[in-house]
Amino acid sequence: MTSTINGGISFWYADDGIPAPREPLPGDATADVCIVGGGYTGLWTAYYLKKAVPFLNITVLEAKFCGYGASGRNGGWLYNGIAGRDRYARLHGHDAAVRLQQAMNDTVAEVVRIAAEENIDADIHQGGVLEVAHNPAQLTRLKNFHAAEIAFGEKDRELYGARETADRVRVAGAVGSTWTPHGARLHPVKLLKGLATAVEALGVTIHESTPVTEIKPKHAITPYGTVRAPYVLRCTEGFTASLAHQRRTWLPMNSSMIATAPLPDDVWSQIGWSGRETLGDMAHAYMYAQRTADNRIALGGRGIPYRYGSRTDNDGTTQAATVDALRTVLTRLFPQLAGTDITHAWSGVLGVPRDWCATVTLDRSTGLGWAGGYVGSGVATTNLAARTLRDLIQQDSGQSGPTDLTALPWVNHKVRKWEPEPFRWLGVHTLYAAYRTADRHELTAHTTRTSRIATLADRISGRH
Ligand SMILES: Cc1cc2nc3c(=O)[nH]c(=O)nc-3n(C[C@H](O)[C@H](O)[C@H](O)COP(=O)(O)OP(=O)(O)OC[C@H]3O[C@@H](n4cnc5c(N)ncnc54)[C@H](O)[C@@H]3O)c2cc1C
Repeated sequence: MTSTINGGISFWYADDGIPAPREPLPGDATADVCIVGGGYTGLWTAYYLKKAVPFLNITVLEAKFCGYGASGRNGGWLYNGIAGRDRYARLHGHDAAVRLQQAMNDTVAEVVRIAAEENIDADIHQGGVLEVAHNPAQLTRLKNFHAAEIAFGEKDRELYGARETADRVRVAGAVGSTWTPHGARLHPVKLLKGLATAVEALGVTIHESTPVTEIKPKHAITPYGTVRAPYVLRCTEGFTASLAHQRRTWLPMNSSMIATAPLPDDVWSQIGWSGRETLGDMAHAYMYAQRTADNRIALGGRGIPYRYGSRTDNDGTTQAATVDALRTVLTRLFPQLAGTDITHAWSGVLGVPRDWCATVTLDRSTGLGWAGGYVGSGVATTNLAARTLRDLIQQDSGQSGPTDLTALPWVNHKVRKWEPEPFRWLGVHTLYAAYRTADRHELTAHTTRTSRIATLADRISGRH
């Protein structure tokens, strides 16, 4: 058995290479729009703004290198989920949430379209999303989830029994699944690099190795100098806590992944998965997986959920216990992989707001904007956020009026901050301990009801 490479940002970089560094900010500068953070949010925003107004002077400031964060480490699920939709339905009405969901469905198609237009080969395969249930409680949740998605306008979603599920992917013990066509598998880093190249070709300036220490109205302050701009956009997701005055804005939640060695054809003929759907489940501590273009399985889930004081990981290194836990999940789903090499393991941070709702905001009085809090659903959502930030800036600068996007219910949503430590740490660890207990209970209790522990944890955490 070969040993696992743990860290090195992610398997995706091991596969596609760390890019050549771009120059840091050379000194004080001015711009029309300054974007802080070179992940999907920052780069998509630069892309759409520059396309809309080619003469705009746009500068992206990135602390490490573009794609250093979740955008270079994720599971490659380009799909139509958005954190907070159900809460937005409660706050703004069902129809508003249906419009948000429709915008997300369109966003999946938009990313695929732009990738083709910009010649970005990101191993995109439009196989949809398959989510499976393993026990009666999960099956009840799956059916409820399926019905809810249809009620939010997804008429093309399909519900499968055990046999139809196995026809797609032979997941051990799967008793049913729900499938949506609004999803695609992709290689996160290939998308990121292609996007960065496209943005630079449009004339956007990107400075790397340039950490912003503080954002103030019209100012992004770095150790190399200050960029002055009428609009400064914070696109720092799980790293937001490291900025001055943002410590309790979004909680950096860890997610970890493993990748197997490429699997031989005889294993694939046992597993199926010829449709290359992205694959998830209905556990409270859920897993997410994809069949990569080079025939590995890349699978993720929650390890240690949160580090004390909102600290983030060291270049993607994850705990040995988390690697073991993810291997156990993998072999529970596919027992034939018991002896398979896990070649890579890594982790990253996602941003979690106190009410678990993604937001996009432009404060018209200060010119400060931000987008994020996507929880675990950002590969597509970042694109919708970026187009919305474009429209908000165009509206604010008098170049256009309100649009369908600026009227979506997640725009300018406000939420309170997280609790100070140690309550933040205690709360998150208690939440995930409760989810793991609930999953174990549902596995052995053979009940069709969701464990009360999970329901209570959802309520206390503000998640539902
Ligand atoms: C392991 C993992 C798996 C995931 N899987 C999926 C998935 O399959 N599907 C899905 O939809 N979502 C998934 N997500 C979530 C998704 O990847 C993110 O929501 C999305 O990439 C967020 O993009 P972003 O640009 O907002 O943030 P990031 O990609 O985190 O980018 C933020 C950037 O800002 C930079 N930065 C931070 N602080 C500063 C500063 N002070 N100054 C300058 N720059 C700074 C960082 O270096 C980073 O490059 C996953 C996340 C993780 C961690």
